[in-house]
Amino acid sequence: MVEKINLTCLGCPMGCPLQLSIVDGEIREVTGYECKRGEAYAKQEYTDPRRMVSTTVSCPTGLWPRLPVKTVDPVPKDRVPAVVQVLHTLEVKAPIQMGQIILANVAGTGVTVIATRSLPEMPEAGKTRANMLMVDS
Ligand code: SF4
Repeated sequence: MVEKINLTCLGCPMGCPLQLSIVDGEIREVTGYECKRGEAYAKQEYTDPRRMVSTTVSCPTGLWPRLPVKTVDPVPKDRVPAVVQVLHTLEVKAPIQMGQIILANVAGTGVTVIATRSLPEMPEAGKTRANMLMVDS
């Protein structure tokens, strides 16, 4: 018996409707894609679904209290909560450069987390975040 699975490709904003035909747990056919990325996405999604993770981590010594970060590669979908949990409890120290490695092998996934923006240090005593921002702008 042929099982049909419908997916939407996340490879680009076109969001092509994909259909997998599965026989005895094996992919027999993928249809609906406009480019090869869609076929690869459908196969990956069926055999080993993965997601990129973007979030923020605490940076008490930074000019802003949170640093935006992301995984450099997608992590297994079922490991996303563990990755988010690790990053939720992580604290980093400013200054940070955009692209700097924040954490290697996050939650044992083998995937590295990097900063997606630079974050300078908190100003010295007497200067507040507000007046530093005014000076910067
Ligand atoms: S199949 Fe290709 S064109 Fe269609 S959504 Fe995926 S990446 Fe975009």
